[in-house]
Amino acid sequence: MTKKQIWDYSPAPESTDHIQLKDQYDLFINGEFIPAVDGKYFDTINPSNEKKIAEVAEAGKADIEKAVASAKKAYEKTWSKMHPKERGKYIYRIARLLQERAREFSVIETMDGGKPIRESRDVDVPLAAAHFFYHAGWADKLEYAFPGRATEPLGVVGQIIPWNFPLLMAAWKLAPALATGNTVVLKPAETTPLTAMKLAEIIQEADLPPGVVNIVNGAGETGKFLVNHGDINKIAFTGSTDVGKYIMKSVAGSGKKYTLELGGKAANIIFEDAPIDQAVEGIINAIFFNQGHVCCAGSRLYVQEGVADEVIAKLQKRMESLIVGDPLDKNTDIGAINSKMQLDKIKMYVKLGKDEGGKIHQTACSLPKKGYWFAPTIFTDVSQSNRIVQEEIFGPVLAIQTFRTVDEVITKANNSPYGLSGGVWTDKGSKIFKVTQDIRAGVIWANTFNKFDPSSPFGGYKESGVGSEGGIEGLSGYVNLV
Ligand code: NAP
Ligand code: MG
Repeated sequence: MTKKQIWDYSPAPESTDHIQLKDQYDLFINGEFIPAVDGKYFDTINPSNEKKIAEVAEAGKADIEKAVASAKKAYEKTWSKMHPKERGKYIYRIARLLQERAREFSVIETMDGGKPIRESRDVDVPLAAAHFFYHAGWADKLEYAFPGRATEPLGVVGQIIPWNFPLLMAAWKLAPALATGNTVVLKPAETTPLTAMKLAEIIQEADLPPGVVNIVNGAGETGKFLVNHGDINKIAFTGSTDVGKYIMKSVAGSGKKYTLELGGKAANIIFEDAPIDQAVEGIINAIFFNQGHVCCAGSRLYVQEGVADEVIAKLQKRMESLIVGDPLDKNTDIGAINSKMQLDKIKMYVKLGKDEGGKIHQTACSLPKKGYWFAPTIFTDVSQSNRIVQEEIFGPVLAIQTFRTVDEVITKANNSPYGLSGGVWTDKGSKIFKVTQDIRAGVIWANTFNKFDPSSPFGGYKESGVGSEGGIEGLSGYVNLV
């Protein structure tokens, strides 16, 4: 452990007096908020203080029946019949309303999920609005996305999303589905339902025809009912590889289409000729951004031998200046871990890393007493076969190894069941081309990390998934080409 910083920032918490939150949220079905058939509710808490924020209706089988029936009716009667230009107008309206209420959405996202306000304000909410804007533009131009082909919507789409980017994942899913003429039943994650419910309010305000978007909350069971419903034409899922495999098995032979955005274990590669200070900043962003709750997090670091000592020393120094604490504080770099379950999983992996012989370094920050917290952590002296190198931890834990040659690091990077993302830091364009072509990963950033744009497709190889989201590739997952 190193010394504490010599100075601290004064607290700068974002105010919560401008947000509107109800004590209770119902299901959003057929354009209305209605309780679940069996009247059940579950609590959603703020992981930074364990306080209950609201209770949320839990959808059972009968509610899924209702939601799918309403989506089917809306598909047949209104949405698939509507002129694409009109569909686009609704999606633009959602985008604009989201922008107008960006501040409120950022605060609620941070309260419900634990991520720093700086991220929800600067990343999640603006990118979510950007996805609606981008796809609104495509609604009446699909003939240019797929030249020479006509497109047909698929019908009713079931969409299931995780807790790490709750609003953004909802936008990634809803925007392309709506732009291509499908109707939707969306299931948010159990621990982060609130921004999806606020989005339902916006959808109502935008006057979207009833049933075009239905939002049902609940746990894995609710997701299962959706996956197995006979009137669903496609499942779009983002989440863990285990649940992805289960979904793939469930829909096999049913004729349902599917796209799966699953786990990752990205290799972030630093060559000797890299701009070291920028690369260190890049490593911090790649693994500690959003508490490491990022599918494309750079959770494996490969440093070329000649600069390994320098990179690790600079990384440890920079880690000491990271501010861990109140997610609503504008200075906070690292917020709360999303749930007790996720915290336990991270702790389990860190113990495993130590048992496997890894050398651990954690920052000396003091963690709040209440809530779920984990200090930024790095492991050196690990080897390729260690479980903390092979398995997704989904927390602020980095496994560091060294390498000598380009071929060696490519082999190591590819030695993973995953293939979602990666990073390369070097002064040489030729190395960038070599690494980006030879590593099997859906996205590889060069001299940067975690950059997103709605026009760039995002998706994984191997156990990281099937299909892409974003760009024309993402649109193609929501249409039949005829
Ligand atoms: P998860 O446990 O797989 O859950 C994802 C969603 O599926 C949640 O809404 C969950 O509900 C639901 N679910 C759980 N069991 C289900 C079942 N049997 N049938 C249908 N739905 C079911 O994943 P998570 O822990 O929320 O999210 C973390 C994972 O997501 C990581 O592996 C991460 O890499 C991955 N991820 C991937 C991407 C990408 O683009 N590739 C992006 C973000 C996250 P509950 O919330 O109630 O469990
Ligand atoms: Mg919550």
